[in-house]
Amino acid sequence: MKLFQRAKKYTFFTTNEMKDRYDIVIIGAGVHGLALAHYLAKLGVTDVLVIDQGYVGGGASARTTAILRANYYTAEAIPFFRESLKLYEDLSTKLDLNLLFDQIGRLDIGHSESAVYGLQTRADFNRLLNVESYMIGPKQITELVPSMDMRKGKIYPVMAALYHPPAGVIRHDAVVWGYARSAQGMGVHIIPFTKVTDLILDKGRVKGVKTINKDVLAKVVVNATAGWASTIAAMAKIELPIATHPLQVAVTEPVKPFIDTTVSSANLHVYAYQTDRGEIVIGGGVDPYPTYNMSSGLETISHLVSNTLKMFPALRDVRLLRQWSGLCDITPDYAPIMGRVSGIDGFLLTCGWGTWGFKAAPMAGSCMAELITTGKVPELIKPFQLSRFRDGAILNERASAPAAAVH
Ligand SMILES: Cc1cc2nc3c(=O)[nH]c(=O)nc-3n(C[C@H](O)[C@H](O)[C@H](O)COP(=O)(O)OP(=O)(O)OC[C@H]3O[C@@H](n4cnc5c(N)ncnc54)[C@H](O)[C@@H]3O)c2cc1C
Repeated sequence: MKLFQRAKKYTFFTTNEMKDRYDIVIIGAGVHGLALAHYLAKLGVTDVLVIDQGYVGGGASARTTAILRANYYTAEAIPFFRESLKLYEDLSTKLDLNLLFDQIGRLDIGHSESAVYGLQTRADFNRLLNVESYMIGPKQITELVPSMDMRKGKIYPVMAALYHPPAGVIRHDAVVWGYARSAQGMGVHIIPFTKVTDLILDKGRVKGVKTINKDVLAKVVVNATAGWASTIAAMAKIELPIATHPLQVAVTEPVKPFIDTTVSSANLHVYAYQTDRGEIVIGGGVDPYPTYNMSSGLETISHLVSNTLKMFPALRDVRLLRQWSGLCDITPDYAPIMGRVSGIDGFLLTCGWGTWGFKAAPMAGSCMAELITTGKVPELIKPFQLSRFRDGAILNERASAPAAAVH
């Protein structure tokens, strides 16, 4: 009996039968679509369908390196990501599932005087906006990461670092499944393996979606498809300022404890951390060309490995275990797009999550749920509306990823 109860607790969802109509259809069962469904249900809105062309959480959410942090650059992004990180801190309790959130901190390394100046400015901005973030010198870096190559006179010497202690890593699939289980437990329908092929439009309004199986009517349709967001927007005859680029990452074979924090270098376009299993996760910037192809290649991985070795030469004999890639929906200002679309009633966006969106899901889901239920745009997401591109209010969020310049 006990075993049965335990098994029931860990049964994440059963397949629902898709109805002909819902109040809300969310396209995309990644972390964003599912978080939104969870927060909607918490507000009492449960006539919701989350639909995905593949398996639940099989998009970028399955491929993420799941680093969570709040040390952004702009006055718009810092509070948003700060609040999202706070929601993550007790999400295991809220979802009744151990998400293995490990707040191991984050070091952004400066290899030149101008990089250090940029990081210092960012540290100051962050502290002004209540995000713990400060500069540390070589001695403290060595204490935190004894394996870092601190030799002077290298091409990329380690001069100083921006330290952000509350950052960490989380078990990404647990987050996805936790949100899915919670939303479904409150009545939300989750339908995988069902592609949306078109939107049903009528006189400037979205009325539902066409799928490979049948048409589904809805009062509100949300595009939460990340790397595929432009394809769904095109169904509404909208061109999003988004280019889809692959991001390639890799892990090594397991080694003994070696790095006890997450380390990133914008100059070297690389970041690394060690998992609980001992593998070193290595990631970097997106591939330079837009494509929907998710295959990995030797060229990018060679670049990542060679730049990781510039910081951690002791890893030179460690073998790569596997590599993979996922699609990232990159905006020109490295900031997300959330909210309504002018001219198309009932159509909402939560996309433009690029290489930085996993950490945003709790706050984005919560704010989007508030927008849908109250009709008012929450202050935290006001700066991220699509209209900013029309109004010339772009953000230039330079601390989104190692792909973005930091100074
Ligand atoms: C390799 C990699 C590393 C990353 N590392 C980090 C990190 O360390 N920290 C961080 O914060 N972020 C990171 N990111 C970014 C983060 O993973 C994404 O921003 C986030 O997972 C996006 O979630 P999502 O739910 O919006 O999209 P996704 O998880 O991609 O979900 C979108 C879903 O839409 C579905 N879909 C698409 N088209 C259709 C259709 N026509 N019909 C039905 N369904 C459809 C897809 O199948 C997919 O499941 C990384 C991304 C990658 C690829």
